[in-house]
Amino acid sequence: MSDELRVKFWGVRGSYPAPGAGTVKYGGNTASVEVRAGDRTIILDAGTGIIPLGRDLARRRVPEILLLFSHLHHDHTQGFPFFLPAYLPNVRLHIFGPGGTPETLSRVLEHNQSSEIFPVSLREMASSKDIQSVRESQGIVWNEGGVRLAESTVGLGDDALIIRIHKSYAHPGGVYVYRIAWRGKSIVYATDTEGYVGTDRRLVQFAKDTDVLIHDAQYLEAHYRGQLTGFPATQGYGHSTVTMACEVAFAAKAGQLILFHHDPSYSDATIGGMEATAKAQFSEVRAAYEGLEIDLTPDPSPVRREEWKRDVKYANHG
Ligand SMILES: [Zn+2]
Ligand SMILES: [Zn+2]
Repeated sequence: MSDELRVKFWGVRGSYPAPGAGTVKYGGNTASVEVRAGDRTIILDAGTGIIPLGRDLARRRVPEILLLFSHLHHDHTQGFPFFLPAYLPNVRLHIFGPGGTPETLSRVLEHNQSSEIFPVSLREMASSKDIQSVRESQGIVWNEGGVRLAESTVGLGDDALIIRIHKSYAHPGGVYVYRIAWRGKSIVYATDTEGYVGTDRRLVQFAKDTDVLIHDAQYLEAHYRGQLTGFPATQGYGHSTVTMACEVAFAAKAGQLILFHHDPSYSDATIGGMEATAKAQFSEVRAAYEGLEIDLTPDPSPVRREEWKRDVKYANHG
C-alpha cells in the first residue's frame, strides 16, 4: 500500500454555490473535501464540490469510498444526487453522518431524491451503499478488514485508519466534527461551527496537536457584529469569524489552519483580505480554495507515532 496521505479541496463555499467572475480564485462550489490515505478515499461532505470530485474518482476507478456528512444542511448534501460513483455498479459506498436513529441519514438522503424533487431515487443509483447514522461515541475504523464502526481502537494494527467524532452544538441542529488519523498524522474537519467567548474548549481538546485543522471562518468581524452595511448581524447563525478559527488553531497547537466555508457573497478580494487578517493571528494559515492540496505523507520515523498512541488512550479512557 502507498504511504501517501493527501487532503484536497473540491468545494470550499458555505450556504449556497457562488459562481461568477468574483469567485474564480477561491471557487464557488459548496463543501466537499477529499482525503486520500494510501489506497483509501474518504470524502467530507457532499456539497457541489463532490460533483467534479466524483468525475475524478470515476476516472481513477476508485472502487470503495467512505463519505462522512458533518450534518445534513443543503450545502453539505446537494451534490450527492450528481455524484457519479454512486451510479456505478462496481462501486461500494460507506456513508455515515449524524441522526437520531441509525436510519435517519438514509431517510434524509431518500427524501432528497424523492420523485417530486429529483428524477432518480437513491435506490436506483447502482452502487452498493451502506448508509448509517452514527453516534458521537462510535469511532469508524478502516483497516484490512474493511470499514466498520467501533467502540474502541484497542488491538488495531498500525495501518488502521481511525476516525473519531465530536458533536458540536455551536450550529443549528448540531454538527459532527471529524478527526481522521492515520500513521501518526491527523486532520480535523470543523465546518459549520461558531466560536465561543474564551474559545470552544471542547473543540480545542478534540483538535489538540492535529496536523491540519479545517475550520469554519465564514464571516468578517463587521458582518458578524451587524456593522457591515446591507447585511444583518449573523451572531448565533452557527458560523465563525477568522479570529474564532485562529483562536481554536492556536489553543489546539494545530500544525496548520485552513479557513473554510467562505460566505457566498464574498469576493476573492474579501477572502484574500480575511486570509491576511488571519496571518497576523496565526502564521500557518491559508484560506481554502478549490484545488488546494496538502501533502501529509507520513515521516516513517517512530517519533511520529505519538498520534496513534494517543488515539488508543482516548478510546480506553473515553
Ligand atoms: Zn454549511
Ligand atoms: Zn449548516
